[in-house]
Amino acid sequence: MMKRLFSTGSFLLLSIVVLLILWLVPPAVERSMNKVKPHDPYEVSEEAQALHDSLLIADLHADSLLWSRDLKVHSNYGHADLPRMRRGNVAIQVFPAVTKSPSGLNYESNVAESRDNITLLAIAQTWPPRTWRSLTERALYQAERLARLEKQIPEQVRIIRSAKDLKVALATRNNENRMVAALLATEGSHALEGKLANIQTLYDAGYRMMGLHHFFDNRLGGSLHGVTREGMTDFGRAAVNIMEEMGIIVDLSHSSAAVVNDVLNTASRPVVISHTGLQGMCDSPRNISDRLIERIAEKGGLIGIGFWEDAVCDDSPAGIARMIMYAIDIAGVDHVALGSGFDGAVKTSMDVSEIAALTQALLDEGLSEDDIRKVMGENTRDFLLKWLPQNAVRL
Ligand SMILES: [Zn+2]
Repeated sequence: MMKRLFSTGSFLLLSIVVLLILWLVPPAVERSMNKVKPHDPYEVSEEAQALHDSLLIADLHADSLLWSRDLKVHSNYGHADLPRMRRGNVAIQVFPAVTKSPSGLNYESNVAESRDNITLLAIAQTWPPRTWRSLTERALYQAERLARLEKQIPEQVRIIRSAKDLKVALATRNNENRMVAALLATEGSHALEGKLANIQTLYDAGYRMMGLHHFFDNRLGGSLHGVTREGMTDFGRAAVNIMEEMGIIVDLSHSSAAVVNDVLNTASRPVVISHTGLQGMCDSPRNISDRLIERIAEKGGLIGIGFWEDAVCDDSPAGIARMIMYAIDIAGVDHVALGSGFDGAVKTSMDVSEIAALTQALLDEGLSEDDIRKVMGENTRDFLLKWLPQNAVRL
């Protein structure tokens, strides 16, 4: 009896310890990875704030679905959640699903076979066991998280599966509800687990933008941070063809220069680079060449400018604004957009609620109001309205 009592007690104690670890560790991990640099409040003039409040703001890249935070709640860590997005007046947010991230992550060379950090994160964040080994399931689970959020606060967030959905969401949005139109994307097509049929599976779950790569080479071709730097494989070409036929937008962030060239040579639709900087202004291994940016723009594509140091070199609002001005010079004002990279294991100089500081910085750079409107969101809105499936059935 004593023995049984003891073992019951030990079991309870062990359970409490495990629960405490699960409760404390994921937020601590995120706190250490998605930091905002300490700063005084940014000065935003009345004029800039009024302009900002009248903008339609769109961001092509925030990895917020990866973390265990409740996105309904205003958190004091991480970069983005619904309350902070609404405070920043963000109208369109692309949410990519990260599904694999090699340990020892760097921008120069990562091996696909290295230990995967997302497995640990999935277990620590108590994601369902089906996500522990399957990359496709990880993407499906992140789509479920967004769908759950939409169900809980439908007046604040709406998932966009078609151009029509976007039109309706934007027509419903006003300055009181500040609804966020949310678009699902993948960060790397290793999420397909080597099966073309999974493009349909992810499409059915709501995915309308697909990145081909993340930090390592995959079955589609070489990553910008992989080992081979190779171009597209036959599998990659077949995947892009299917994506184009289905109206899925192709994102070439993190793809090798050879893959970017290959896709540009064969694609029938424009592509995006959802989060990047330009090498001509910030020569970091994270960025691609100005020539490729120029080619993407020539083909009607969109370049999302990132907010973190390796993308822009100077990550202050003024520094991001300068990279935007540079990108406008290279790509033209109709092809530049925002791609914050919020919550993507990066340190930034602001969270999403402070994004009016960027409007101020663009005014300070002398960019016209019309061009600020384009870059801050209207280019992305127009691109999505044109290239999303026009009338996808709501599932
Ligand atoms: Zn990324």
